[in-house]
Amino acid sequence: MIGASDIAATQVLPALRQLGHEPVVVVGSDGERTARYAIRNGVGYGTTSIEEALGAGVDAVYVSTTNERHAAGVHAAVGAGCHVLCEKPLAPSLDQARAMVDAAAGAGVVMATNHHLRNSPVIRALRGLVADGTLGRVLGVRVAHTNLLPERLRGWRLGSEAGAGVVLDLTVHDVDTVRFVTGMEVLEVAAIGVAQGMSGLDAVAVAGRLGGDGADATLHLHDAFTTPHARTAFEVFGTAASALATDAMSQTPDGEVVLRRADREEVLVDVGERENLYVRGLRAFAEAVAGHGDPPCTGEDGVRSLAGALAVTESLMTGRRVSLGITGDIA
Ligand code: NDP
Repeated sequence: MIGASDIAATQVLPALRQLGHEPVVVVGSDGERTARYAIRNGVGYGTTSIEEALGAGVDAVYVSTTNERHAAGVHAAVGAGCHVLCEKPLAPSLDQARAMVDAAAGAGVVMATNHHLRNSPVIRALRGLVADGTLGRVLGVRVAHTNLLPERLRGWRLGSEAGAGVVLDLTVHDVDTVRFVTGMEVLEVAAIGVAQGMSGLDAVAVAGRLGGDGADATLHLHDAFTTPHARTAFEVFGTAASALATDAMSQTPDGEVVLRRADREEVLVDVGERENLYVRGLRAFAEAVAGHGDPPCTGEDGVRSLAGALAVTESLMTGRRVSLGITGDIA
């Protein structure tokens, strides 16, 4: 593990253990804190030396440092021939993210991005409704990623130095989830940000355009660190039916999906097994490492979600619509 982080302790380590894997070593930047972290979380040992850690018989690395340090961790891991699961956003810049993915490809190792929502049963159910044609042609998507950021996470995330802020924290997940559910790409965005007292811009509204395979659809995102009482939501509007997933943008497998057809009858969709999102993601990553298929979210997917988030940032900074340079004809 590169990064003595909260997400590793609260989600990834418990999920790894549930799958029977044991973390060998954690790398952090402060020796004493990392040693304490290793003891508290039952990791073999803690060190400040990436080189030492990568020489300890490691075959796969989970990178969960602050965003601007992901690249250094990924390059070190890939250079040592290790497979990598990297947290989102891959990096603060597209060039850095692209270089990480290219390095992994050049080394012949698996690189995955930890967009955990691809493992959510409600999100997967929505994707199924699009893929099997139940919704018909997709006309639009609306996402409400409206949280109250927990006190313990109100550190580097609220500044811009560590490649953070609401867009690189939440919007990047939305872009990936929209791509995953609809199979469409974000073609264009226009964003407005507001300051609600937690940090500079702590809530954003994004209007956008989705395309692919001849389709042309609208996109509407509301991402906020500041909303204490909202249910998160992901809604897909189709020509044959619409589907609304509530409590969808979550770390837990909760939430429900309601389908509304032309007769206006509402049906609760069976979302199947409600498996822990991180357990599912790590199992699939381990299978990819063993040579069976791709991880749920590849490095390339991480580059695409970052491109969408950075386009939103550019729109916030310039006050203009930003095109992602992808045509509406992509598959
Ligand atoms: P944390 O703030 O918990 O950890 C990030 C880094 O901050 C650590 O690697 C550590 O540096 C340093 N740090 C943490 N706690 C302390 C402390 N008490 N004192 C000094 N330094 C400290 O971040 P998160 O776990 O919230 O996020 C880490 C990454 O994971 C980010 O990229 C984030 O975007 C992503 N993330 C992904 C989620 C998902 O579900 N996919 C959910 C939450 C976060 P060092 O290791 O160098 O010591």
